[in-house]
Amino acid sequence: MAQNRVVIAGAGPVGCVSALYLARAGIPVTLLEAGDDLELDLRASTFHPPTLDMLDELGVANELIEQGLVCPRWQYRDTEEGIIADWNLGLLSNYTRHPYRLQAEQFRLTQIIMRRLEKMPGADVRFGCRVSGAKQDGNGVTVDCQTALGSDSVRGTYLIAAEGGSSPIRKTQGIAFDGLTFPEMWLIVSTPFDFSQFFEELTPIAYVSEPDDWFVFVYVSGLWRVLVPTKSGDTPEKILDEKYLQARLQRICPTGRQYEIAHKTAYTVHQRVAETYVHGRIFLAGDAAHINNPLGGMGMNGGIHDAVNLCQKIVHVWSGQAGDGRAEFSKYDAQRRPIAHEYVQQATIQNKQMLEEQDGDARKKRHENLRRTAADPDAAREYLMNSSMIRALEKADALG
Ligand SMILES: Cc1cc2nc3c(=O)[nH]c(=O)nc-3n(C[C@H](O)[C@H](O)[C@H](O)COP(=O)(O)OP(=O)(O)OC[C@H]3O[C@@H](n4cnc5c(N)ncnc54)[C@H](O)[C@@H]3O)c2cc1C
Repeated sequence: MAQNRVVIAGAGPVGCVSALYLARAGIPVTLLEAGDDLELDLRASTFHPPTLDMLDELGVANELIEQGLVCPRWQYRDTEEGIIADWNLGLLSNYTRHPYRLQAEQFRLTQIIMRRLEKMPGADVRFGCRVSGAKQDGNGVTVDCQTALGSDSVRGTYLIAAEGGSSPIRKTQGIAFDGLTFPEMWLIVSTPFDFSQFFEELTPIAYVSEPDDWFVFVYVSGLWRVLVPTKSGDTPEKILDEKYLQARLQRICPTGRQYEIAHKTAYTVHQRVAETYVHGRIFLAGDAAHINNPLGGMGMNGGIHDAVNLCQKIVHVWSGQAGDGRAEFSKYDAQRRPIAHEYVQQATIQNKQMLEEQDGDARKKRHENLRRTAADPDAAREYLMNSSMIRALEKADALG
């Protein structure tokens, strides 16, 4: 069979990384994006060390780092006890070329990659092209899409479905996406107000527990983002109302003055993993394959790890070194899906449970554990190997 091209649905971070990886390897790609331009929504802001190492291999890390904020430290705090654990990623310097978390919006990465793709003759990027389904046969995949001119289709040897959590490809292929949806919405409010003036030694990423609540501080591009849970049954209208937002921020830091609010978003949080990542010639990656709560910053990072793992295999098969590819592609599923279940889902759910713990004794015990871990360099290093997703990548490699 003549190899044609790889079709990629969705120009989010995962679709863009996949397109760049394959185009650099000389494999023609067609990237189909529903929007008329790249999404600019404020979602992921943390790039973990191994993700930066991968982006470096693709030649885009330096430009991203120039646009972001290098954070060698982050914290767990408590409103009553202050700093519980202050993690120093410098402990990972023997395991990564980037021993820090980079704070940069995910759209900065997609914009950098898109500028590269525009100059690559093998990369065909089509905006305003909404993928609706796909059919496959022994030779390839025909991807159906809608454009301003009507229905269209694109033919490729393989399809990477990277069109986000509501993936029409996953749905139309009948791939289950089991898991749960939390009853409460989460809220993100961004403000130029400088919380570091009021919270001593505040690092740009801090997870903060209170006896009966919690919140997260994240500093990106000159704004502090505050992430808070709301109550089950609270509607977006209620929680995005100015009075509610002001009251929520005053509770966190009572200034007695009106906060300037730059952005606000309310969203529903899920924990779900697809039943398979490989369906013949169709592969799921990123949020199309797994979604989780954002505590720990693992969704986009894990999705980029999927993209790199999968594209390595596509290159291998394309070059004729892996037969018809079936065994190689089933390795993608075998390596990446257990990591989503056993590592990302577990870690993000535990992060949530830890922050929302209200039992006084259990809180005290968790805080003591964290303090002890952070004070012991070996234990702290191991903690950071996990939270930075380095161990998850090692485990995935061992599964292949
Ligand atoms: C508030 C918040 C904070 C977060 N923080 C972090 C963090 O710090 N670190 C982290 O790792 N993760 C974080 N995440 C998760 C992260 O944003 C996602 O995991 C990441 O965006 C997934 O990338 P993706 O490319 O798979 O999907 P998406 O980013 O959803 O991109 C999908 C793309 O496909 C396009 N598309 C959709 N439907 C179609 C269609 N039918 N046809 C063609 N194109 C289509 C969309 O327009 C979009 O461009 C956060 C999420 C939220 C909500």
